[in-house]
Amino acid sequence: MTRVVVVGGSIAGLVSALALARSGQQVTILEKDPMPLPATPDDAFDAWTRRGSPQVRHSHAFLARMRNLIRDREPGLRQRLLDAGAEEITFKAQALRYFPDAEFEQGDEDLTLLACRRVTFEWALRQHVLETGLVEYRDGNEVTGFLSDASWPPKVTGVCTRGPDGDEGSVPADLVVVANGRRTHLDDWLQAIGAPRPRQLRQPCGIYYSSRFYRFLPGQGRPSPDAVIGADYGYVKCGIFPGDNGTFSITLAAAPDDEKMRVILKTPGFDAAAKALPIAADWIRPDVATPISDVAGMADLNDVRRFLVEDGEPVALGLVAIGDALAHANPITGRGCSLAWIEAYALADALAKHPDDLRAMALELEASVEQQCGPWVRAQIAQDEDALLVNQAIRRGEDPYAFERPDGTTDPVAYTRSVVREGLLAGTREDIHLMRASMRVAHMLEAPQDLMTRPDLAVRVLASHARRGERPPAVEGPTRAEMAELLAGVS
Ligand SMILES: Cc1cc2nc3c(=O)[nH]c(=O)nc-3n(C[C@H](O)[C@H](O)[C@H](O)COP(=O)(O)OP(=O)(O)OC[C@H]3O[C@@H](n4cnc5c(N)ncnc54)[C@H](O)[C@@H]3O)c2cc1C
Repeated sequence: MTRVVVVGGSIAGLVSALALARSGQQVTILEKDPMPLPATPDDAFDAWTRRGSPQVRHSHAFLARMRNLIRDREPGLRQRLLDAGAEEITFKAQALRYFPDAEFEQGDEDLTLLACRRVTFEWALRQHVLETGLVEYRDGNEVTGFLSDASWPPKVTGVCTRGPDGDEGSVPADLVVVANGRRTHLDDWLQAIGAPRPRQLRQPCGIYYSSRFYRFLPGQGRPSPDAVIGADYGYVKCGIFPGDNGTFSITLAAAPDDEKMRVILKTPGFDAAAKALPIAADWIRPDVATPISDVAGMADLNDVRRFLVEDGEPVALGLVAIGDALAHANPITGRGCSLAWIEAYALADALAKHPDDLRAMALELEASVEQQCGPWVRAQIAQDEDALLVNQAIRRGEDPYAFERPDGTTDPVAYTRSVVREGLLAGTREDIHLMRASMRVAHMLEAPQDLMTRPDLAVRVLASHARRGERPPAVEGPTRAEMAELLAGVS
């Protein structure tokens, strides 16, 4: 049995602990935030401030990849989530809106989104993990660094801690799992024990998040059967996320350097913008829903992949990272928790395979993470680089999708954007094969590169693109100038 200390008791920490404990390891979670477990998800929503994981106050969608892992590996947790008010939204329910005569295929049942608030998810997961009796959870305990021995590469032998009363201490471990999120101090802790600071891939997402939660009034429900509803206006993105127990949330995302949009970070600006966006307006009418939270903002969002294996060698032994501390990407794609679940089981499997060889375990984990998670982060980096250019073009008053140049030649970058937007995305409502294929990638059931390399789909995407003049604009709503004028009048 390996003595494991997990740093951080949020989603990645909890699922790592669960997977490791289920495979026979002795696991202790150390969580910085003091967080008693309230009786209900609504109590948790009201009580938890979660300074260590501020995104709990933002919209979350839980993708089919993670929902299926829960269904297959932890069916008791799935039931617990449903009992707590979470809802499963199937592909079938969404497809029937656009394709009433559709025939469904084997595998469509896998394409199911778990709709619930992030707080509800963490509340149910934590309750589930604690009730296994297999994991010790110490909240109010901050990890401040590593214990190590004098070997090379450095071997982590435990963690230094600061307890609820400020008392310094330490906890020994055979393996330390760093799951303390995107703002981890892992690099500093490694440097302090003489290890190299890990290499990173890093790219700004080009947006900040501004979110508000609502509850439907009695007798009211979702105006649309679509699971997550999104629209990209170029200068602002809007997402509507169904939640548990009759709740939903709206997120507006804009570029950090677009001064005219910054008022959406506060309630009056957020409300004015949401009312002006056709996809959101019907959800927040006073006769439909009422707000249950203030507007929360979150900035400094990046795509990051951290490498703890360099040139085939771990930077330190007895140490791995999981969840956002290892890799995170633009939150708008909703992949963070699915990545954490994939990594947690990859870790448990690697340790079960190499219980007495920390080096082999680390290499096995890295290979598995690179294969299963790497493509998602890289694809997101490429997408965010382009989204930045699109946003800048719109602010210059240009059309970033106009691919026919005045001299008759084609701008290949704008053409690709146009094909994705007017061929693939618009086509998902006209062709069930496109809807299924794009949703399977969005839900991480197929790799990002699979979509555009399938010849059968390419034909359908191009046919859809050729029809672009026959349909109304993909996204309808105010232009940036109109929105800027509206927001300028908001105090
Ligand atoms: C705005 C936003 C929206 C998102 N939307 C989605 C979505 O729709 N779908 C999705 O799947 N994912 C989404 N994500 C990502 C998702 O929230 C994370 O992937 C998920 O929370 C797992 O993160 P984590 O457990 O690695 O880190 P976190 O949830 O950030 O938790 C880290 C934990 O470590 C603790 N901690 C920090 N330092 C220490 C320390 N020194 N000692 C002890 N404990 C410490 C913190 O208190 C915290 O509890 C979103 C992220 C953001 C920022």
